[in-house]
This record gives sequence, structure tokens and C-alpha cells, in this order.
Amino acid sequence: MDASTVAKKHVFSFEEGDGKNKKLLGGKGANLCEMTQIGLNVPPGFVITTEACLDYLASPGRALPAGLIEAVQAHMKALEQKTGKGFGDPENPLLVSVRSGSAISMPGMMDTILNLGLNRETLQGLIHQTDDPRFSYDAYRRFIQLFGKVALGVPDELFDKQFEEVKKKAHAKEDVGLSADDLEEVSERFLKVVEEHTGKPFPKEPFDQLEIAIKAVFSSWMGRRAVDYRKQFRITPDKANGTAVNVVTMVFGNRGNDSATGVGFTRNPGTGENKLYGEYLVNAQGEDVVAGIRTPKPMDRLDVEMPQIAKELAELRDKLESHYREVQDFEFTIERGQLYCLQTRNGKMNAQAMVRTSVEMHNDGLISKEEALLRIEPDLLEQMLFPRLDPKFKAEAVAQGLPASPGAAHGIAVFDADRAEQLGKDMGQKVILVREETKPEDIHGFFASQGILTSRGGKTSHAAVVARGMGKPCVAGAEGIAVDVARREAYVGETSFREGDVITIDGTSGKVYLGQIPTVEPDFTPELGTLLGWADTASKLKVMANADTPDDARRALKYGAVGIGLARTERMFNDVERLPIVIEMIVAETPEQRQAALDRLLPLQRKDFRDLFEVMSPNPVTIRLLDPPIHEFLPDEHQLERELNELHQLAETTRGMAVLAGAMGLLHASDKVRSDLDSMRRLVDPAMVEDAIAKKETMLRKVRALHETNPMLGHRGVRLGISFPEIYQMQIRAILEAAADCAKMGIEIQPQIKVPQVCTKQELIRVKSFVDSIHEEVKQRYGHPVNFKFGTMIEVVRACMRAESLAEAADFFSFGTNDLTQATFSFSREDAENKFLPLYNQSGILQDNPFEVLDVKGVGKLMKLAVEWGKQTRPDIHVGICGEHGGHPASIAFCHEAGLDYVSCSAPRVPVARLAAAHAALHA
Ligand code: PEP
Ligand code: MG
Repeated sequence: MDASTVAKKHVFSFEEGDGKNKKLLGGKGANLCEMTQIGLNVPPGFVITTEACLDYLASPGRALPAGLIEAVQAHMKALEQKTGKGFGDPENPLLVSVRSGSAISMPGMMDTILNLGLNRETLQGLIHQTDDPRFSYDAYRRFIQLFGKVALGVPDELFDKQFEEVKKKAHAKEDVGLSADDLEEVSERFLKVVEEHTGKPFPKEPFDQLEIAIKAVFSSWMGRRAVDYRKQFRITPDKANGTAVNVVTMVFGNRGNDSATGVGFTRNPGTGENKLYGEYLVNAQGEDVVAGIRTPKPMDRLDVEMPQIAKELAELRDKLESHYREVQDFEFTIERGQLYCLQTRNGKMNAQAMVRTSVEMHNDGLISKEEALLRIEPDLLEQMLFPRLDPKFKAEAVAQGLPASPGAAHGIAVFDADRAEQLGKDMGQKVILVREETKPEDIHGFFASQGILTSRGGKTSHAAVVARGMGKPCVAGAEGIAVDVARREAYVGETSFREGDVITIDGTSGKVYLGQIPTVEPDFTPELGTLLGWADTASKLKVMANADTPDDARRALKYGAVGIGLARTERMFNDVERLPIVIEMIVAETPEQRQAALDRLLPLQRKDFRDLFEVMSPNPVTIRLLDPPIHEFLPDEHQLERELNELHQLAETTRGMAVLAGAMGLLHASDKVRSDLDSMRRLVDPAMVEDAIAKKETMLRKVRALHETNPMLGHRGVRLGISFPEIYQMQIRAILEAAADCAKMGIEIQPQIKVPQVCTKQELIRVKSFVDSIHEEVKQRYGHPVNFKFGTMIEVVRACMRAESLAEAADFFSFGTNDLTQATFSFSREDAENKFLPLYNQSGILQDNPFEVLDVKGVGKLMKLAVEWGKQTRPDIHVGICGEHGGHPASIAFCHEAGLDYVSCSAPRVPVARLAAAHAALHA
């Protein structure tokens, strides 16, 4: 038999599956195997592999792979032996759950079916087994609904309607108020619903049910929810491909008051506190906790209600953590006093909790520093920079819910996910999604919202788990709020809010406010400082910041930047007081006029630079000479044309008024009338209007003269500096004088001058000649030289190709990957992202947006060549990156590999970049 004809093994019992092989068995399946094998009390079961799922999805007409059903039957036999029950046995029936589970956890995105194996006959067996008809009918109606919905596509509403009718008839407010007879009626009605909707009776044969359920779970991998989720979280086939199916013996948490079901975290996923955290519901089934239908009790209460189980849970927690060496999120069920662990996976936590648990698990000797760093995705840290409510601001909360995901957010209230998407995503408004409870199909509303508020459900409800994963604030179970979706309104005590009203939620305290409450920037926690300290020791790349103002620079320092890699001087010109002077400089008709404007800018720029040097002392500050096309500072041509038009009309009217006044004077000779007519003539001074017209015309002429068809490739950067040397000279003088001032004050600094858009060494030589002569002057005047470095941006393709030559004139290279990406692809950085790039990404022509994720294959190749060639000329040349990619983890990994010395990014990305730099070094 050759390899291709060897049948793949598609089914593994929990005793035999490889707990490390999540790709094949899914995260849940692998863990069930592993938990079984380390001796935890897991209900017996088996896993059908993700390979079987892929084979099924790829087969024409969707057929299960050959031999699968036979293997499943054999494993069911084994389950029967282990449990002493029979699948379909009317005396002592075996019931199973059929659960999805892919390599990467996708909470609520795929389907699960419980209580499978029930039919009218086995139901009698269940009643006999449990001596509890109410429980048994309850299990039956749950199964019919879930199976009907998931496997047969019957809408939930059809079942809900019947259920409500029976409840009404029985005068029951809650589900628990229904008797066994009521539930029997519900079951019968549900069977009818299925038959009417599908045109066939509900499948009664347990093996038929199992086969249909397996197919449904496989198919849910390609369901819209799951596909959207994978897209959003970039779960590519190399990370998770297909879902496994776990068939597990049912255990029941709803067998009375000695039974319960719950969800636990080995540490608090909101704060990281080293304490068992979670919720449970007595006499309930698992889905009641997750779906947030009843509000569960906090874990602490278990100590009182079931002290023995509380002790066993504490032991389970220790076993899970010491085995997995990672915070675990586990589900448990207590069936008549017996504790079962149903699943475990690595806990999804917010950034604060990830950081705290990393530091504490290392300090407890559970993990190494490297593991502590590597378990945190760098991007997650951005959450720690989220705003919180200003503690100084006093406001009355209108409702209190559970603090389900920290951070504060405000926005207009919207009551359904589609509306959230419309207003939040399409119209760019800030929205808070307000629901009674959320369901997986609301996921698009989460993406579009600033925060989530629910009136029902606990901290492990769908809303809470998903919001936490996304790092969005969430208040769950705010029971004081009554949501009326139809009226798009919510009632809170005496007041109410409607769609469109602004509300604020605080996911850290669980409070809800009407209106907008001010927020403050969060602080670094001490644990984050510790962790990033470890990161800096591990990494090779330094992290600098792109910062243009002293405030930016201070923030960058706080976040741990070791210098400024890019200060864009044009941003300093956009100040309301500066702009008129800059415009004067641009529209100057003579060199003298231009010089006069530059003379006024010089002291302002000198102060800008001195402030930056002082804040960043003793770290390097890299100042880039003016880059963008100067027409960017000028008014818009069409606006000017409109204004000129209006002025011409005014001139016309003014002339008309003068004629009118003259003519009226002929008719009325009285002094009073003459004086009125004089005031009329003076109402608008024609000379003033003419003057305004002249000024606007000059400006329009200038704007037209400076117009370029392709400004991004036009008169900008060093080209501007060479055509108008006095602009660069003013900036160079301001830098060197600011540096000399600092040196005089004993402030240690490292100024660096950087030239943008360079394509040939001759440009650098020309600018360097300005630098040298101004430096000489400054040296004479201050009596001491200034230490500085002179370097170039590498952001045009020719600069890469001529790197060995540029290195002769530059102490450092700084990759401007925004422009370099534009130049390499010939995609306009201004337009591509709004025009064709989304289509390119959706259709898979390009996997990423190259303006966000560095295109390693193309742009990266150029960068590598430039580094190699630059180093041939100047082996110690300092090389960094300052395009947006400098703050992106995958791009940082590339920069590490390409041998760069530093990355530079905006201040809030600095912590992310520090951790990403460590990851790059540790993965290398
Ligand atoms: C770049 O091009 O990558 C860069 C940093 O410069 P700017 O974005 O200012 O053009
Ligand atoms: Mg650039």
C-alpha cells in the first residue's frame, strides 16, 4: 500500500489524541485529550479531526470521508462501554454533546448541539434514569430547539413563539415556573415546528442525529459568522483550518440543587489578580451561563453554597495552571455533587491582565522571562493606553452593571448591530451598542462600536467575552435598564434614552452615564514597566518616536522611547500664528521679502528645536528639514476663486450704491437726505475692496503658479531646499543655534539633521555645504562647535539603488517606508487606500495593505539591498525606519532581520514596538 492509499485516521478518543496537536484536533479537542491524559475528571468522548472537516467541505456534494461513520460507530461503542449506557437505549440512554473547536478559539462563532440521542423512546429512559420528568422534558425541548436551529436551519423565533405561548398559558414568568407537563407540551410543539418548517419529521434515530450534527458543525466553519470572524482577526488557514468535532458524554448541571454549571478563569481576566475567578448557576445547563440568559453568581459564593466543590475547584485550578503554565479559561459542570471539567483553553484577557499575569507567573517561577514576553501579542498593549473616566469629574451614574471589559467610552446609543454598523462604520459616528443580551450574529455591531452595554448576562456572557477580546469597554448585566428595541429606547428608572442620545459607559466600574463624561489618558502600570524593561534587555532594535512637539516628546519618553527618530518640521508650521508668516515666505515676490518672513520664523523654529532637545536630553532628536510641497500651506484654489468672485460682486454693488446715492441727491436737496446719502456711500470703502481683490489675485496667481499635477512626486523635500536654499538655511541655523544654546546651558543633546526625498549624493552634498557654513558661523559666534549628525531619508527607489554612494555623505539612513511603498508599488499613498486597495485585499490579490504592513517581498527587498550597500561604504552607518510600519509588529520583525538599528513610530505605538522588538529577537 503506498502512502496515498493509507486511510487517514479521522477519529481519536480522548485517551489517545495528541494534546499538542491543536491543528488536527482543534484547541478544545486537544485539551480534552490532554486533560483526560493528566487525570482530570473529563466526561468520556472522542474527537473527529479538522482534516475530516476539510475533506468533507471539499468533497462534491459534501459527503463525509469514507470510513468516518464506521469509526464514529466504533467510538460510540467504546463510550457505551465506558459509561455503561446505550446510544438509543430506551432503558438507559447515552446522550452526547457535539461541539465545534478549531485550532484557534473563536468564541460562539461555530455550532454546538447538546443532549443528542434523545427521542420519544430514549426520553422515557432518561426519565427512568433520573427519576425526574421535568428535567428530562427540559433536556428534550432544549435538544429539539438547538438541533432544529443548528442542524436543520429552523429559525429560533419559531421556537421562542411556541415557548412563550406555553409560558403564558401556564402563567409562568420564568422558565423554572414550567412543569413537566408544560415542558412536554413545549417539546411536542417544537417537534411540530421542525416538521412544518423542514417538511420532514424530526430525525429520531440517534445515529442519524449524530451524522447530521457532525455535518452541521463541519459546515459551520464556512458559516458567515465564522468567516467574518476569521477575516477580522486574520485567522488564516496556516493558523486554523477547519473545525474539529468533539463528541462528549453529556453531564448535567441541571439535575437539582446539588448540580451546577459554570465558567472559571484561573486568574482574573480583567485585572490579572491571582485568584480563581468566574461564575456559576445552580441547576442550569452550560449555555445558560454563556448566553447570559440568567445572571450567574460570582465564584466566591460557591465557598458557602458548595464548600467541598469549592475546594475541588481550587485544586483543579492549580492542576490546570501548573500543567499548562498559562492562565486557563475552563468550563465545569457539577452533576449531583460530582465535578467535571468540560473544556479548558488559554484565557483571553485584556492587556492589563496579560501583563500582570506575565510578570507574576514569572515571579512565581511558573514561566521564564522569555515566555512572559512571548505570551503577549504586542498589539494588545495598545489597550493599556485606553482612556478612563476623569476621576475629578463628578457625575451620577444612571445604572450599574457588571464591569465586564475595562476602559471608558462614549457614543450615541444604538439598539441593534445593523444600525451600529450603519452609524458607526459607514457614517463614522461614535456608537455604543445597547442590547438586552448579545449573540454571535451581533459581531459586526461590536466591530463598529466604541463599547457595549447589555442589560442581562454576566462577565462571561457573550458580550463580555467578545468585548474583552477586542479590547472594547463593556458593561454587562445592567439590570436597571429596560431595553425596548422596537421603540429604539431604553428606560432607566425615571429617565430614558433613545437612539442618538449620547451615553458613556465605564467598563472598569460597570457604571452607565447619560451624556458624555470626560476621560483621561491611562498610566503605565508598574507591571508594564517591568515587562517592557525585560523586553528592552531582550531586543536588539532600539525604539524611537515620531514626535513633533514637546508634548509628543514627553509622551514618547513616558512610553519608553529612546529618542526622536523623526520630527516633521512642516507640522510645526501648521500653527494658526505661524501659518500667515509661512504664507508670506511662500508668496514673497523678492528674495528680500522672503528673507524678512524667514527672519521671523527663525526664532520660532529655534525655540521649537530647543524645547525638543531639552525634553529628550540626552537622547537623539532627528529633525527632518521641510518636506511637503509648499502649496500645501496655501489656500485652496477653488476657495480663492469663490472669494474673488464675491469680492468682485461687492465692488460692483459698491459702485452701484455710489451711482444710486448721486441720483438720489438730484431728487432730494435737503441736508438730512444729503447726509444719509453720504453715509450710504461710505458704507463700503471701494479702496478697501480693491485692495482685498488685489491681495486675493496675487494669492491666486501664486497658488496657480505652484500648482503641480503630481505634487507627491513634485517640488518637495530636498528639491524644495535646493530651489529655495534660504528655507533650509533658516531651519539648519535654527537647529544648530538651538543646539549651541543647549550646550551653553549644559544640556546634553544629540541633534541629527535629516534630509527628505534624496535620490542622489549631489543633493546631500549641496545641503551639507549649507550645514557646514552655518555651523562655522555658529561656532564662531558661540565659541564652541556643535556635535551633530547628518543623514538622509531613504524613501525613493533610486536612493536604495545608490545607497553605497549616499552613505559617503550620510552618517545615517532612515527608511521612509510610506513614500518608499508608494514609490515601489506606484500606488498613490493618498488615494490607494480609498480606491482599489480594499478590493485588492478582499480578492486576495494583495494579502495586506502595504501602507500598514511592510511589503517584505518588494519594499523589504529594496531595504535589504540599501542596508547591504550602505554598509559596504560605511560599515558603522546607523540605519532605522520612520514610516508608519515602524510601529507594526510584523514589520518590526522584518527590520530586526534586515539588521536595522532602530524603529521609530508614534508615541502610543512605542510600547507595542518595544515588545515587538523583543519578540523579533527572541524568535530569531
Ligand atoms: C515616509 O515617507 O515614510 C515618512 C516617514 O515621511 P512622510 O510620511 O512624512 O512622507
Ligand atoms: Mg516621506
